Amino acid sequence: MNLQEEIQLTEFQLYFLLSDEQRKAYNYLLDRGVYCTTCGVMCKNGVNVTEIYLSELNDITIHGTCNACNGKVARVMEFGEDTAFSEKANNFRNALTN
Ligand SMILES: [Zn+2]
Repeated sequence: MNLQEEIQLTEFQLYFLLSDEQRKAYNYLLDRGVYCTTCGVMCKNGVNVTEIYLSELNDITIHGTCNACNGKVARVMEFGEDTAFSEKANNFRNALTN
């Protein structure tokens, strides 16, 4: 198996790859599941996402800023273990290179 590259996604591309359930999980994590090291707690007012990456393992990494303090935050969301998502992600990669 080839080692896959990390690629940057737009929010639109990410939404295309996620199922309805996963979109809910994604939005929930952005709202309540991102830890801010500056605030010392989970970002209270959510996160402003600036960059989204599809990792080598088809996990999603988001980078952004905490809406409460503007500090930088990041979070890995493990979607790669979901076979349906991983398959979609691989098809998406193929579409990009062909
Ligand atoms: Zn903060």
